[in-house]
Amino acid sequence: MIDIQKIRTEFPILKQKVNGKPLVYFDNAATSQKPQIVIDSIVNYYTTFNANIHRGVHTLSQKATNAFEEARVKLQKHFNAKKNYEIILTAGTTHSINIVATGFTSLLKKGDEIIVSALEHHSNIVPWQMLCERTGAILKVIPMNEEGELQLDIYEKLLSEKTKLVFVNHVSNALGTINPIKKIIDKAHHIGAAVLIDGAQSSAHIKTDVQALDVDFYVASAHKMCGPTGVGILYGKEKWLHKLPPYQGGGEMIKQVTFEKTTYADLPYKFEAGTPNIAGVIAFGTAIDYINNLGFDNIAAYEDELLQYATKKLLQIEGLKIYGTSKTKTAVISFNIEGIHPYDIGVIIDKLGIAVRTGHHCAQPIMDFYKIPGTVRASFAFYNTFEEIDLLYEAIIKAKTMLS
Ligand code: PMP
Repeated sequence: MIDIQKIRTEFPILKQKVNGKPLVYFDNAATSQKPQIVIDSIVNYYTTFNANIHRGVHTLSQKATNAFEEARVKLQKHFNAKKNYEIILTAGTTHSINIVATGFTSLLKKGDEIIVSALEHHSNIVPWQMLCERTGAILKVIPMNEEGELQLDIYEKLLSEKTKLVFVNHVSNALGTINPIKKIIDKAHHIGAAVLIDGAQSSAHIKTDVQALDVDFYVASAHKMCGPTGVGILYGKEKWLHKLPPYQGGGEMIKQVTFEKTTYADLPYKFEAGTPNIAGVIAFGTAIDYINNLGFDNIAAYEDELLQYATKKLLQIEGLKIYGTSKTKTAVISFNIEGIHPYDIGVIIDKLGIAVRTGHHCAQPIMDFYKIPGTVRASFAFYNTFEEIDLLYEAIIKAKTMLS
């Protein structure tokens, strides 16, 4: 069970007023808020053991190295990777995807095919388009339907012996749809293609077991999981991480450097050139502990109640249309009101203290599908309340009256 009153006291930002009104933060799909314990973990690192990792013999460096590597093990356990060195610490989902997309340049040839879905974030489209430009591979797209679900029958027809890679997000950030990733992975494996799952939007709501999924690559960002910005993971099966070349050259990622030839470090360091975001990685570990202590089942059940309540309530507003009506979705409501630009609604309800996102949500193909410029997106987290949804409802009514 979620103890909402206790939880809210743990997030200092939620106590503030915005434009003279109590903050109602409904932009969780863009980034989550941080509990005090995560903020403290960053402050504690810089106040008591700030030092560079992996190369110092001195006490602070060893302390920092241990804390950094302990965070990696926490992430390994959380996502159930077989080996700790299958967890590469990155700057976030976008960085992780680019490591894989760039690495595949030497593994693809002209005419090979890669498949993405119509529900992807731009960061899971553009790197693959760039990969296609470099290699002559062809990008194919799994289409979506009106409910915002992927059309798996067409996916099956797209798969062939030419398919080398499939990339799908677990949850769509624009609509909230939860995609049937296990089915997608199994079908791709059947014809020998590798699969990357973008967990940026799901990882705070659904606990992922990379071994049970048998996924080849899984990527996520700390900042969507109550952790800091600028940190994320790339999980890769050991065999794939050995096959992929390093993404960046530099310190930390080498075994030996001479001007004649350089050899690369073992996993995971081969992919971790330069000084990483040490404080961020340590705080990511703290955030993972925090969410696990709340319990993913508790979080999912509570957020689903918020979603059902909000859906019912907002649909009472005349002219309001929700995009993304799949039965399997996380707590995201993407909507428009007939005759009103989403941006105008966003600006007016901000004046009432309510933070939502407006626009294309880095998923322009979805907006094109619905033939709209964008939506208003309210996305909920476990620290939101039913009372806040009532405030959203009232604010939308006000905005609608002002704008019609
Ligand atoms: N994929 C999805 C589904 C996302 O929601 C996001 C963030 N909005 C990203 C990728 C990119 O994540 P980041 O900006 O943290 O790299």
